[in-house]
Amino acid sequence: MAYQTVNPYTNEVVQTFTAHSDADVEAALAAGHALYKSDWASPANMSARLKILAMLAEVMNARKEELARIISIEMGKLIGESRSEVQSCIDIAQYYADNAARFLAPVPYPDVLGEAWVEHHPVGIILAVEPWNFPLYQLIRVVAPAIAAGNPMVVKHASNVPQCALAMEKAIADAGAPAGTYRNLFITPEQVANIIADDRVQGVALTGSEKAGSIVAGQAGAKLKKATMELGGNDVFVVLDDADVVRAAKTAAGARLYNAGQVCTAAKRYIVQAAVADEFTRVVIERFQAAQMGDPLDDATTLAPMSSQRAKNDLQTQLDQAVANGAKVLCGGAAVPEQGQFFPPTLLGNIERSNPAYFEEFFGPVAQLYVVADDDAVVALANDSNYGLGGTIFSGNVERAKQLASRIETGMVFINQGGDSVAELPFGGVKRSGFGRELADLGIKEFVNQKLVVVGG
Ligand code: NAP
Repeated sequence: MAYQTVNPYTNEVVQTFTAHSDADVEAALAAGHALYKSDWASPANMSARLKILAMLAEVMNARKEELARIISIEMGKLIGESRSEVQSCIDIAQYYADNAARFLAPVPYPDVLGEAWVEHHPVGIILAVEPWNFPLYQLIRVVAPAIAAGNPMVVKHASNVPQCALAMEKAIADAGAPAGTYRNLFITPEQVANIIADDRVQGVALTGSEKAGSIVAGQAGAKLKKATMELGGNDVFVVLDDADVVRAAKTAAGARLYNAGQVCTAAKRYIVQAAVADEFTRVVIERFQAAQMGDPLDDATTLAPMSSQRAKNDLQTQLDQAVANGAKVLCGGAAVPEQGQFFPPTLLGNIERSNPAYFEEFFGPVAQLYVVADDDAVVALANDSNYGLGGTIFSGNVERAKQLASRIETGMVFINQGGDSVAELPFGGVKRSGFGRELADLGIKEFVNQKLVVVGG
């Protein structure tokens, strides 16, 4: 696909970019490998690398507004949400600058052979394949730990956010990173496959769809390369009969409409106990109907356009299919602005297990409502999914919510707050939501050699 900026609010083709050649790819790999083989990558040089991360946080902070506008223009995100995304990037860079030395310090292992410890060494070039929905944040989640650990990185970003891709590359260079630290490449899936096959590349981190994940993980597997996969989700938002239902409903509506619903951990399936279902539904519909669609650069807008015409058309097809298979539209069909890829907030009910919608991820502002009788029914429905990314439980009884949280088969569960992601907490899923973790201490250990050293007595 062509690498170009198409503003999803104005439908204007803003800029088109030249693809990188195989020679460009080779130059990027040669520079990354030379850096990996230099002293720069050694554990002893970590403090110099962490200074670059701290400087990256400063550079991004100085460019906050400029970066936020690029995000909004390229994929339509509300400007306030874009500003928070840039702030999250700054926080993640600073977090690893402050904590990576502790995470990667040698760990002593008591044993019977002698003195033993595990050291953490870089492994070589890591390839990242990243999506458009958080176009700077998805990058920093992989590059900040890579810089800290000493792994050079080559990156294939989504084709609809090329300016974000270049802005991150420039910020890293301006933070003082040496050549080879990070190289953005506008490349094809075939070139991605060739990079994975290259002996200088030791791992691949992908965030994106199940389809892309299974292809890229397959290529990595065939070459015995380590991979992490952050894929789709169909997260539940559970409301128990003892919950503060109005607060839960307001949070649920926000958690479905944020980023125009294009979030892997968005609240996609509302599972609500019968006693509170009517009140919950009323408040959610009220919130959905109050959404203000308009210019993403206008602070008064509360619902952004979707990222592209294709994304909007795909969602409409899914919705039509859900309705054709018996789903009932409880709220939807509101008029949308003539200009821009807007999709009206939609709430679907009456979704039977035979409806394809029951198992599908809707990547936009469409929520599903299921009304259930008791806690066992919550767990059964929540776990009847091919995905296992996150989930939310609202209850007046935190102990009861904790019991349920431990029974839900996902990588993350939030109690009495919407799903969120911060630098300090590991992020990732199970089942077809992928494998591996990003962020926190677990994220930085995905692509390091955990090397055992033993000194005999
Ligand atoms: P996508 O189509 O899979 O695209 C993601 C990235 O993969 C893009 O850079 C894309 O490049 C690339 N790609 C696609 N096919 C490829 C192939 N055969 N070989 C190499 N690269 C390939 O994902 P999307 O539909 O845009 O993004 C939405 C999905 O991502 C949703 O399912 C969402 O839930 C998931 N997601 C997950 C997380 C998480 O952390 N778990 C976070 C955000 C999004 P092109 O743009 O050039 O096609």
